[in-house]
Amino acid sequence: MTKKAVLLLSGGLDSATTFAIAKQQGFSVHALSFAYGQRHGIELQAAKRVAETLGATEHKIAEIDLRLFGGSALTSDIAVPKNRSLENISHGIPITYVPARNTIFLSFALAWAEVLGAYDIFIGVNAVDYSGYPDCRPEFIASFEKMANLATAYALEEGKQIKIHTPLINLTKAEIIKQGLALGVDYSLTISCYDPTLEGKPCGICDSCIIRNKGFAENGIVVLKSETHENEQLVSRSQAKRILVRFNKFSEVLLDFKDIEFIGQAFADEIFRVFRNNNHKIKITAINTTPDINKMIEYVGIEHE
Ligand SMILES: [Zn+2]
Repeated sequence: MTKKAVLLLSGGLDSATTFAIAKQQGFSVHALSFAYGQRHGIELQAAKRVAETLGATEHKIAEIDLRLFGGSALTSDIAVPKNRSLENISHGIPITYVPARNTIFLSFALAWAEVLGAYDIFIGVNAVDYSGYPDCRPEFIASFEKMANLATAYALEEGKQIKIHTPLINLTKAEIIKQGLALGVDYSLTISCYDPTLEGKPCGICDSCIIRNKGFAENGIVVLKSETHENEQLVSRSQAKRILVRFNKFSEVLLDFKDIEFIGQAFADEIFRVFRNNNHKIKITAINTTPDINKMIEYVGIEHE
């Protein structure tokens, strides 16, 4: 008989990767998502796509209204921070932290696991890349696991140990993506953005978009947002170069900043980084610049005329 596991599925990159890992370990995956009053329903659509594509045995969506309490940019009208530097992102607990969210989610997962007779719970928490979230730390997970084994009838009666699996906890975002790609995860099914457009396109400039795009860039992939595609497109470095090099001379790039605007700032940022890391001197001829774009050029230290 296949072992059953309950997996917390958000529709983001981490939980999709965790899903693929659980499947690889031979678990039948019972996926659990939450309509918790988050800013947008887009991530639940992504969770459904991931559950279907990766082959969940069952997918449940629990409705719990964390907007009742608010206290987070994700569950109230507090603005989501945008355009923060990696330095800023890596300090402190961000306003996108949702009070006690993982404790609540894991408690629901535990309740379902007990009903299913499943002793394995998967959660895609990560304590490495800029995560200031207290409920993503190994100490928290260890405590929850201990509590789960004290709190449930089935643990007591069967004498079997409940395990909280956190396969991503010590990985960087780039390592997570690398592992997911190796397992064949299609990341265009997922969305990580804290503040997507009404059509479900990622903003490209919230903390989550920035960290995600950086992780892709470190795997040689840049994320291209396109007006003509519903989901973000994952584009390899070489494709990106072809997109950006409008002149044959490799060292000289003509960028129409109208393009950049719709492509997204984080994307452009990564493109420049990739070019710079490859030691290509970039001469940018900027047309249609806007004040924001000028600021961005300053930030990445590129000369322009
Ligand atoms: Zn975003």
